[in-house]
Amino acid sequence: MRNSMDRICQHCGKWIGGNAYRVTSEEEGIRLLDMIVCSLCFMEAKGLGLHTEAINVRNKQVSARNRRSHRTAVGI
Ligand SMILES: [Zn+2]
Repeated sequence: MRNSMDRICQHCGKWIGGNAYRVTSEEEGIRLLDMIVCSLCFMEAKGLGLHTEAINVRNKQVSARNRRSHRTAVGI
């Protein structure tokens, strides 16, 4: 149940239905800002020049599956 905390935008307070993003801001090694936001606030933060990164929770499984389709030409 505690996981639901991660899905609330810490900027506008709305439930993050789609992708979640992390917005951080550092100055001289000191972290001024570190919050999880929705895609709209992510765009806003990006426009402000803040450091942003996507949080991909389920992406690991997807990329592992995609490896199967990667065919290499063997036998040269
Ligand atoms: Zn938001």
